[in-house]
Amino acid sequence: MNIVVLGAGESGVGAAILAKEKGFEVFVSDKSEIKDKYKKEMTDHSIEWEEKQHTEGRILAADEIIKSPGIPESAPIIKALRSKGTKIISEIEFAGRYSNSKMICITGSNGKTTTTMLTYHILQKAGLKVGLAGNVGFSLARQVAYGDFDYYVIELSSFQLDGMYEFKADVAVLLNITPDHLDRYEYKFQNYIDSKFRIVQNMTEKEHFIYWNDDPIIQKELEKRDIKATKCPFAMEKEDGLAAYIENEILNITVKNTTFDMELNKLSLKGQHNVYNSMAAGITACIADINKSTIRESLSDFRGVEHRLEPVAKVRNVLFINDSKATNVNSCWYALQCMKTPVVLILGGKDKGNDYSEIESLVKDKVRAIVCLGVDNAKLHAFFDGKVPVIDDALSMKEAVEKSFSFAQKGDTVLLSPCCASFDLFQSYEDRGCQFKEQVKAL
Ligand code: ADP
Repeated sequence: MNIVVLGAGESGVGAAILAKEKGFEVFVSDKSEIKDKYKKEMTDHSIEWEEKQHTEGRILAADEIIKSPGIPESAPIIKALRSKGTKIISEIEFAGRYSNSKMICITGSNGKTTTTMLTYHILQKAGLKVGLAGNVGFSLARQVAYGDFDYYVIELSSFQLDGMYEFKADVAVLLNITPDHLDRYEYKFQNYIDSKFRIVQNMTEKEHFIYWNDDPIIQKELEKRDIKATKCPFAMEKEDGLAAYIENEILNITVKNTTFDMELNKLSLKGQHNVYNSMAAGITACIADINKSTIRESLSDFRGVEHRLEPVAKVRNVLFINDSKATNVNSCWYALQCMKTPVVLILGGKDKGNDYSEIESLVKDKVRAIVCLGVDNAKLHAFFDGKVPVIDDALSMKEAVEKSFSFAQKGDTVLLSPCCASFDLFQSYEDRGCQFKEQVKAL
């Protein structure tokens, strides 16, 4: 069989290595430049590759395509493959064929990385042989090729889910669904919802499906769908049938005939959204039969993930918080929701079809000034002008931080929680967050 891998990043190169190991003919093609370390790795494994082009004849001759999540359906090469009827799968689907490990898969519009890292932290502390995969860490395929783990904690984006068909999760976590990436889903929210629900496909009652019970979108879908997996819903308020809830400031978990409880104030991650993330990770840990003291200790000593509501520094009594990973409106809503002081908010970047009305009342309540940091701020002005006392523009992080600092009063918080992707001015959200931290330190 002849496999072509499209995209030579971590997932593509991992898939190519695994495919080669399994004896397939492999060719890797990337429209952009490939990183040197990946070129070397492929050459070391005698894998053929090309960069800055797609040789159509060779790609169309493939029996199966492994597509990297970053390549959209609208790419001409994908359109050509679709019209030919070639099977296109994701790296996770491919790797799943060659592993018998337990797969813990985490998706949602927000909170994936935090919950994935937290779950991984608990399992690792419990001494299990566990790998971290998907959008974080090394690709699943690479880890399967190089020696397997007993468990994987996998962060799945909708783009990876789109290329998954036979793969079955042992534990599936669906944190929430709010509009995101609509530019990749024909601007139809339902398409994106359907993509997220692929996480439960192929599951039977032996597997567990953990989800946020109060999410109206998830609720509506559950009414429509016949999901076979054992359901483990979580919510803030106690209700029959919940696997986790809060009562009298105590987090309670009941699943698989075990119960677990822990004081809320002992959780290391703060904010309402992180209570949900901690519940999802805690339920998963109980399903994996991890002892209660390890779960308790891990939920209280987890240090959080960079660029997610990360406190940076206090400068003359103004606190700076880096939430660069807030690349959609809902994650900014949660960030604003847990702010306890007046806020100077840095917004902007590449808009993915945002509707800012979701944060309107929080902005009116808490935000003293908005600094729009983007190449095109017209949509932000159209929505927020007149709704906050001050709104201004910045074209660089230096300018954004300096202006924010000048608008802030003692005791305020300057919050970078942009609601948008970063690619207009920065290489990535990490780059944006790091530049923010550098500029804060330079004040
Ligand atoms: P993802 O990997 O899904 O993008 P992250 O864990 O990186 O999620 O968090 C992204 C942003 O979303 C963070 O800035 C955080 O403020 C917010 N967030 C985290 N968890 C949740 C949640 N459960 N619900 C809503 N927002 C969340």
